[in-house]
Amino acid sequence: MPTLVVASRNPAKAEELARLLAEEERLAGVTVRTAADLDLPPVEEHGETFAANAETKARQSATAAGLPAVADDSGLVVEALGGAPGVRSARYAGGHGDDEANLHRVLEQMEGVTDRTARFVCAAALATPDGRAWIARGEVSGQLIDEPRGEGGFGYDPIFVPDGDTRTTAEMSPQEKDAISHRARALRALRGAIAEALER
Ligand code: IMP
Repeated sequence: MPTLVVASRNPAKAEELARLLAEEERLAGVTVRTAADLDLPPVEEHGETFAANAETKARQSATAAGLPAVADDSGLVVEALGGAPGVRSARYAGGHGDDEANLHRVLEQMEGVTDRTARFVCAAALATPDGRAWIARGEVSGQLIDEPRGEGGFGYDPIFVPDGDTRTTAEMSPQEKDAISHRARALRALRGAIAEALER
């Protein structure tokens, strides 16, 4: 049975990635192990682009595990904040992964700002232990609201309303979020390459 590493220590994100991979018929029998399951060393994300960070994470994880690895780097890009929080989305308020503090920092900075345009961006990367790598990108555009709404998702979901909807992505079911999300779009674009890499 082929094994694929999902190089994320964020359980909500690892779950989303595993769910998206399972949509591809050719990946149905694949065993997914996360970076946490395999106790892989943490990867520092110092790149200036989502793509650079995703590729670094995938390459380091593939080498450490000796298995093909998929990684994503993602974040919120706010027009009126000059693209922030961007690649610093997970640590915008200081500590890494404090979703609540990060979201409130964005809301504070957006107080009184009328242009609420934002987008979620995801770069997904696949790397194999023999040194090959593939990258795909996905985006979803929307608007920021000024009071968090919804219990689902993670990160900035409670303040993001995708274009064409009135709900935040935290008010959607996992399936509804997967139908439109940046991560789903990037992963779907990468699934063919993942299936091929695992078949070899
Ligand atoms: P990463 O783990 O370095 O890719 O950081 C991603 C960060 O971007 C997360 O901690 C969230 O703050 C934010 N983010 C990425 N994708 C989403 C999403 O689907 N919903 C909400 N926030 C997200």
